[in-house]
Amino acid sequence: MVFAPDVVEALGAAAELVNSAIEPDSLTTIAQLQALFDDWGYTGSRPRTSRELEAVRAVRPRLRELLVADRDTAVELINAILAEQQAIPQLVRHDHLDWHIHAISPDRPMHERTLVETAMAMVDVVRADEMRRLQLCAAQDCDGVVLDLSRNRSRRFCSTTCGNRSAQAAFRARRART
Ligand SMILES: [Zn+2]
Ligand SMILES: [Zn+2]
Repeated sequence: MVFAPDVVEALGAAAELVNSAIEPDSLTTIAQLQALFDDWGYTGSRPRTSRELEAVRAVRPRLRELLVADRDTAVELINAILAEQQAIPQLVRHDHLDWHIHAISPDRPMHERTLVETAMAMVDVVRADEMRRLQLCAAQDCDGVVLDLSRNRSRRFCSTTCGNRSAQAAFRARRART
């Protein structure tokens, strides 16, 4: 495996959050935010107010910038987040995860936790020099972020919808030529 399980989870959560901003926006209700919180196994206080929803929605552009940054820019963004949030790395063990690092307390608001957890996961991506694991979706007119953890780095689309759409477009193009 390329990254530790907690890093994989943090990157997956960040990519899903970033891609939720693609129109039609799929993070507009507290229920959607809570589903994301539950799906990605966040610990700590579960978000339940529209203020928390707005705060999470508002960090999406910053997460996006970080996920698709080049390596040196990513370092600047990571360091800025960790300093601003006064991150303190601590080893913790909970649920199904063996010892891993949390750099922010679980009682902090979800948007701050997401920022720090994404930054900490990106520390590993930078150190392993695996920036290519994060790409923009290959489908035309899609700004989705693709997290590719496959062995042969074969993932090109952010969703099956984008993959199907591109396959159909290629098929039509081939047929038009014959
Ligand atoms: Zn954890
Ligand atoms: Zn896409």
